[in-house]
Amino acid sequence: MNNPLLAYARRPELSVKLPSNGKWYPDGMIKYTLNGEVEVYPMTPKDELMLLNPDALLSGEANIRLIESCVPSVKNAGDLLYPDANVLLLAIRRATYGKTMSNNFVCPVCSDKALEINDENKISEMETKGEILTETQTTNVDIDYFLQTISYLDEKYIYYTEDGLKIYYSPSLLKDKLYYSLMDFNNRKLIKYFRDYDIEEFNKDEIKKEVSQKMNEIYLNINDEGNKMITDSIRYIKLPDDGIVDDKKLILEYISQTKSTIINDLHQKIKELNDIGINKKVEHICKCCGNSFEEQLAGYNQVDFFGFAS
Ligand SMILES: [Zn+2]
Repeated sequence: MNNPLLAYARRPELSVKLPSNGKWYPDGMIKYTLNGEVEVYPMTPKDELMLLNPDALLSGEANIRLIESCVPSVKNAGDLLYPDANVLLLAIRRATYGKTMSNNFVCPVCSDKALEINDENKISEMETKGEILTETQTTNVDIDYFLQTISYLDEKYIYYTEDGLKIYYSPSLLKDKLYYSLMDFNNRKLIKYFRDYDIEEFNKDEIKKEVSQKMNEIYLNINDEGNKMITDSIRYIKLPDDGIVDDKKLILEYISQTKSTIINDLHQKIKELNDIGINKKVEHICKCCGNSFEEQLAGYNQVDFFGFAS
């Protein structure tokens, strides 16, 4: 029997347009409203609990499950393009907690002044008088503004090589972006660990050799993962005779052996595509000195929360 109460349990709070704007996906993956938007529901307590689970957050599983719970019209949220996923995460926040989100900042002008003065007593005296403000301040951000001013993806992106290949590339998929971000996070942790490790202290050639070997392995691994990440974002490559290669194995082989300028270009271009969608700039105004400056919008995305987003 259908439970008549369930129609009242959770209703869509808002609907949003996605940066992909009806393109890029196979038929049936997303169910749009009549005006091409997707409906977003508020989080349940169970969703909120999931966001407290560090393992789910770190693996990125939380983002995917959150979208699947709050945006039921999306099937397989892991296959969403990263720009779309970011808009949905911000919209879920809006649907659950309302349109105001606070972003913290520290005024760089006041902090620089305090650094120059470099005298604790003098600084606190000036702070009491209201001449500088080095404490954390808050800007209230209107989420609706950010959801209504998103930018859209083009229908396709092509990178032309000098020797006549046309590389058709796309933003990362959410699941890939989460996977490589976690990888990157772990690699950085390892590098930091080995850098902090004082090998001179042991003064043993054996240990030095082992550490340097480990570092080499990490760097090779970073290179491999980078090549795979680029390959994941390549849909297919057109040859000068119009033949098409879409076998990922062949593409990875090409990427692994091609020159670094192409790799760097592609990496940069994919990164730019991943940033399309939400306008990420927040304008802060210091309530003490009145200076204004821009910073990244923070706090809508657990990926950003962990510093993974770059
Ligand atoms: Zn200031």
